[in-house]
Amino acid sequence: MKNILSIRRLLLALGIIGILALTGMNLYSIYALHMSAVTTSVEKNREQLEDLSQWVRVRMRQNSGNLWTLEASELKRIAEYPDQIPAALIQYLNHVSNDQLYDDIYYTLDGDRVCSPESGVMRFDSAVGSFVPAEAVPEQVCRGIGMVSTRMNVLASTYKWTAYMMTDSYFTFNFVFFNPDQAETIAYLSMPINRDYLISGVIGPEIFRRFSNSEESGVLVYLDDWTRGQVLISNAESNQDISRDHDFISRFSGVLEDWNLKMRYIETPEVAASKASLVRNIGVLAVTVFTLIFSLIFLYLAAKRDRELSMRQASFLANVTHELKTPLAVMQAAGENLADGRVTTPERLQSYGQHIFTETMRLRKMIEKLLDVARNEAGQLTLKPALLQPEKLVKEHLAEQQGFLNQNNVQLDLSIEDDVPKIMVDQNSFETILGNLIENAVKYSPEEKYLGIRVYSDTKKVFVEVQDHGTGIPPESQKLIFDKFYRVEETLTARTKGHGLGLSIVKNLTERNGGAISLNSTYGKGSTFTLSFPIAANISFSNLNGQKINEEESKPEYV
Ligand code: ADP
Repeated sequence: MKNILSIRRLLLALGIIGILALTGMNLYSIYALHMSAVTTSVEKNREQLEDLSQWVRVRMRQNSGNLWTLEASELKRIAEYPDQIPAALIQYLNHVSNDQLYDDIYYTLDGDRVCSPESGVMRFDSAVGSFVPAEAVPEQVCRGIGMVSTRMNVLASTYKWTAYMMTDSYFTFNFVFFNPDQAETIAYLSMPINRDYLISGVIGPEIFRRFSNSEESGVLVYLDDWTRGQVLISNAESNQDISRDHDFISRFSGVLEDWNLKMRYIETPEVAASKASLVRNIGVLAVTVFTLIFSLIFLYLAAKRDRELSMRQASFLANVTHELKTPLAVMQAAGENLADGRVTTPERLQSYGQHIFTETMRLRKMIEKLLDVARNEAGQLTLKPALLQPEKLVKEHLAEQQGFLNQNNVQLDLSIEDDVPKIMVDQNSFETILGNLIENAVKYSPEEKYLGIRVYSDTKKVFVEVQDHGTGIPPESQKLIFDKFYRVEETLTARTKGHGLGLSIVKNLTERNGGAISLNSTYGKGSTFTLSFPIAANISFSNLNGQKINEEESKPEYV
């Protein structure tokens, strides 16, 4: 039996571990799936950002491919013959003149004092298709040339190409023409950038085209001027209040050194959908797991309970058989002796009679209990509720039990409050209930046989308390003693005759009569069982469960 129990426990534990392991694995894969959705979405956006900055770089030097083929001599000649511009250059100049991105085009030969009035800075006049002397050269252009020329000087020893391209911090886009063979700078082609157009006409629309509105796409993309700590344009509703932190940054290397493209994740639709599905999955999984574990535990407990009940029933059968046989054997022997005429003296006759009487009473009590249980289970227990005086009921019952109490030297302590209201109960049930409680109080009090009975009431209920100073009931058994066939496993109980039926009958009858029973017990000190019944005047018709009221009693005032 113990083996079966431990196998069952082991299976329960394995079942629970299995469910938890499966759940853990599932959770892990759902989470991993979610994380991979997040990573994919993040990667995709990163690539898009890189792609955008690359696109801006290409846009700025659009159509400049042929400039690298220009010869040093052709470029130098322009100073002398400003209308004889090499084909590769004129093609580019025409393109730039039509591009809103650049305001003007200046051409300057390298010299000691670049951009001084004598240095002969030229401006491209698109109307005539040639360079003309520039009257006033914007400060922005001169400073820009100064910067790129310095940079070129630094690079000169290692630079191997014929042109160098750079945007200076004054927003002039410069081509430096270079002769790698001589390590000499030849000329500068400088194009002041239309900054506003670059921001609002080029980069801004492209951010929107690629990333749409930040609320829709879940990513914030903005153009950041790090030198001034300023957001220039973004895909948010407004550029104000954008905090400049970012998850990813992309630079416009070589063309717009002062600016960066930055990106911050809010929550992309893919990530939001994946997160919602993660939450949904976890929710469903949690409910399923709890239901499964709960069902497993429930099944385990139900099986355990069934097993205990069947064990108790088996021991009850053995007990009852024994209990039935003992009085029958005593009566049989006494009867035989009497029939044989062996008992002659009046004293012995009386003692035989007493024996037979006592055993018959025991048999009767036991059979009555069994019948009560059987009737109740078959639904045949009929109650006749009547309006009764608790005081009268208790006193009458005690009078009946007087002999039993005296026999056991019971010290009775009776206290009944004045004017306890009437209750609506079945008299037989009440007697059975009280009889069982008193019998137990006496049975389970090995030394001091004290029986305290108190009757009192509050505004709603009448209470009947049965107290003893006996063995008391261990805490773990207190809930179980009202179960059928349950007996506390303790030596006194083992020595005391009983079948574990009394309290189950008591509880059942109390409840059928609209009452309740509670227990307060300290192991080793004693127990108090408290019955409570609703005051009759408070009972509504529906509480009577359709039971018939005893006509002989006066009818209560129902509310
Ligand atoms: P039994 O026929 O065994 O007395 P009951 O249903 O009346 O059956 O009681 C169930 C068990 O509860 C008893 O076996 C006993 O262990 C415990 N019990 C009941 N009443 C008392 C009491 N007054 N004091 C201590 N133990 C009690």
